Amino acid sequence: MRVMPTTEPSVFERIIAREIPADIVLETEQIIAIRDIAPKAPVHLLVIPKSSRYRDVAELAAGDPALLAELVATAKALAAEHADGDYRLVFNSGAGAGQTVFHVHAHVLAGGVDEGSLAH
Ligand code: 5GP
Repeated sequence: MRVMPTTEPSVFERIIAREIPADIVLETEQIIAIRDIAPKAPVHLLVIPKSSRYRDVAELAAGDPALLAELVATAKALAAEHADGDYRLVFNSGAGAGQTVFHVHAHVLAGGVDEGSLAH
């Protein structure tokens, strides 16, 4: 019998499947947005396509540009809803840049972002 390789579902897949709890601030057919468990700004949201197909923003841009555009529009709307409308949008891409969950997601940092730092 051939054993197929398995990959563990990421934390975001488990949140989308309601296997682990999260503070969900928005959900559409294709996107979910949650509060980051370890906020780095007064408002720190994660905007996540439900599809686990794309590891990072470049893969998403190449594979489904319309979904990337929807993700950016969602980030803007959430920054207006949860803060004053100004926001920093961060996509950590690769472990060396601080990515820890390899399911594409945007960090939306708002409500008083440290102007001197680009770190999330
Ligand atoms: P990355 O480091 O991959 O760019 O971002 C992953 C983010 O997911 C981190 O900011 C981390 O705090 C957040 N995170 C990790 N596990 C959980 C969790 O179980 N719930 C929530 N809400 N956020 C999480």
